[in-house]
Amino acid sequence: MNEHTPGGTAAAPAPAGRYGDGTRAVRAGLPAPAKNEPPLPGPVFAAHFHLPGEVSGPYTYGRDTNPTWTLLERAVGELEAPGEEGVETVVFASGMAAVSAVLLSQARTGDTVVLPSDGYQALPLVREQLEAYGVRVRTAPTGRDAQLDALDGARLLWIETPSNPGLDVCDVRRLTAAAHAAGALVAVDNTLATPLGQRPLELGADFSVASGTKGLTGHGDLLLGYVVCRDPELAAAVRRWRKIVGAIPGPMEAWLAHRSLATLQLRAGRQWGNALAVAEALADRPEVTGLRYPGLPSDPSHTTAARQMRGFGSVVSFTLPDRAHAERFMTALHLVEDATSFGGVRSTAERRGRWGGDDVPEGFIRFSAGAEDPEDLVADVLRALDSAAAGA
Ligand code: PLP
Repeated sequence: MNEHTPGGTAAAPAPAGRYGDGTRAVRAGLPAPAKNEPPLPGPVFAAHFHLPGEVSGPYTYGRDTNPTWTLLERAVGELEAPGEEGVETVVFASGMAAVSAVLLSQARTGDTVVLPSDGYQALPLVREQLEAYGVRVRTAPTGRDAQLDALDGARLLWIETPSNPGLDVCDVRRLTAAAHAAGALVAVDNTLATPLGQRPLELGADFSVASGTKGLTGHGDLLLGYVVCRDPELAAAVRRWRKIVGAIPGPMEAWLAHRSLATLQLRAGRQWGNALAVAEALADRPEVTGLRYPGLPSDPSHTTAARQMRGFGSVVSFTLPDRAHAERFMTALHLVEDATSFGGVRSTAERRGRWGGDDVPEGFIRFSAGAEDPEDLVADVLRALDSAAAGA
């Protein structure tokens, strides 16, 4: 390990706090420039590292630490909490690995955890697991800050804002203040917003947790998760959990994720603009009901979202009259792939009800705007809506 390799002793890069989002994104986590070394060192494939004599140094065994993770963790920390010293990031094999790491490392038998009742559809599975370990779980909807009423005696409040797939928003500062007053820790799932759209730690949360599979990395080619927090003891508990369950990202995925961060601001800017354009076009259609996009001034969440978000994300949700109508719409789209997941550079959408599990109408569509030209994307959506209506 020389001084230029990740985890080496090269000087820390310039502080991230003073730059704008684009500059921060292209430079996030890079080591100090070193002659004859690449700006972003390649993935380090190692199950073990040379370790003569006493156990010392940052890299010992590949389930504990990896230099490629170190750079990615630094990068994510710079984006989630720009300019802050002492923020710790732990990357995981997937978003669910990160979610489970926080919930299962923090909650003990007899504790109470408050989850959203309208969050990502794997949360009920985590709930079952928590309950199997003797943890009490309460749920309440994201909208109207309804989780406030469930905080009494809680150990941990889990917030998902905007929520997936309903796109409700809650007031993170308000919920966090109430939870802390009640003695509870607060974790925010920041998947939909990405760190460019929302910074949960600045809003008071103890943990920012996300699936990096979505908008953060944006190409639909890898799974990743992360946890960011300020408290070293909380970070150590999460890191310990990763070591115990081995939910580690492969070096190749970690490196690809870091490489993808360079374009985060470019992608997010285009995709958020496209989401707004699609939402505005949908707002004029008589067959569309339940349209939600926190960036639309008419959206019930807009005022709260505008107070705490720096961008409103790439996901739009809406409902078509029935399942057959929604299926005709999906089939008629040319530029939008029928796929689950969201946040990628190629637009995707799905009739969410096909999975079961979400409390949504049969005609409910979750639409993720990609980075296509806005006029092409909007035209494709309007043409598919016309085609679906004509086939009724
Ligand atoms: N959190 C939210 C809000 C999600 O939408 C998802 C996945 O869709 C996850 C967590 C889990 O992420 P992953 O699929 O990377 O495990």
